[in-house]
Amino acid sequence: MSKFWNDKIKEIEPYVPGEQPKDKKYIKLNTNENPYPPSAKVIEKIKSMNLEDLKLYPDPDVTELGKVIAEYFSNKINNKITYKQVFIGNGSDEILAFIFMTFFNAGDKVYYPDITYSFYPVYADLFNVKEIKIPLNDNFEIEIEKYFGLDGHIIITNPNAPTSIALKLEEIEKIAEKNPSQLVVVDEAYVDFGAESAVKLVNKYDNVLVVQTFSKSRSFAGMRLGYAIGSENTIEGLNRLKFSFNSYTIDRISIEAGIESFKDDEYFEKTNAKIIQTREKTSEELKKLGFKVLNSSANFIFISHNKIFAGDLYKQLKENGVLVRYFAKDRIDNYLRVTIGTDEEIGIFIEKLEDLLGNNVN
Ligand SMILES: *Cc1c(COP(=O)(O)O)cnc(C)c1O
Repeated sequence: MSKFWNDKIKEIEPYVPGEQPKDKKYIKLNTNENPYPPSAKVIEKIKSMNLEDLKLYPDPDVTELGKVIAEYFSNKINNKITYKQVFIGNGSDEILAFIFMTFFNAGDKVYYPDITYSFYPVYADLFNVKEIKIPLNDNFEIEIEKYFGLDGHIIITNPNAPTSIALKLEEIEKIAEKNPSQLVVVDEAYVDFGAESAVKLVNKYDNVLVVQTFSKSRSFAGMRLGYAIGSENTIEGLNRLKFSFNSYTIDRISIEAGIESFKDDEYFEKTNAKIIQTREKTSEELKKLGFKVLNSSANFIFISHNKIFAGDLYKQLKENGVLVRYFAKDRIDNYLRVTIGTDEEIGIFIEKLEDLLGNNVN
């Protein structure tokens, strides 16, 4: 505490990111990073860059990368997305913060599930927006009817985190359709692992704003790139905010790396398919060990065991060199979120689990 802190900084409870431990090498299944490196083409591109150009500012409009992303989605959804519908940010967390600053007034309401990405409540507090949490049902599913005709902004994570469960595109569409005057933000950090993107909706519904990240499915957690896709007018709003805040959020290396990542679609598809395959196999094996495993469309699974408390299992796994994520929070304090690693990493995780369960149960 310092006498120089303003009132907000005195009271705010900052977001706590997953551990990035420095004490020893863990099997790291705690922050939903991709176990595979970025595409070799990305690495090659970075190595071949003329780094003397770093003396010059990057393109503040990030036009070249925006065009590549726009073209990629135009082809994917068979409907024109222009680069003016794409906003690029320094990771999607930055874009989410920009969304609060661009579209929400102090005192407005924002609706999201009681169990979802835990950064939203921090932004709500930071920007004086009133959060209203809508409970998931007992199976941790979003009941879309509860989101019809709301009197505030809406944020839906799809697939949801940390539950891993996805809504169908028709369900997202229903929420958009039933709230024509509210912005519906769809945070698709995990969409590439098995859900359908709402980018398909942005030309039909001007209230849909989709946020995606390079951090998970494109192996770029250490690079910091995300993007939002929406109507030209919503994206223009984000640009007004950005150019009132920091014109250069994206550096030259990230721009080039991002372009290469989108060009190497084959690698992207291959690594995502591999993660999905490992996830399905892991889920089956854990069920055999007596775990409840929620139906995942993400690069992580959310699991619970009735013989051993999740908080204890988290600690014991950590002592054994395997790091997973535990949230000591209402409703989910007997669950662990486990990132899907390589087959080898998951093999060790399951081996340790078998040992620990043997010790704890017998
Ligand atoms: C990881 C994650 C983000 C943030 O991603 P960055 O692009 O790395 O900032 C945003 N939303 C959800 C739901 C996430 O899981």
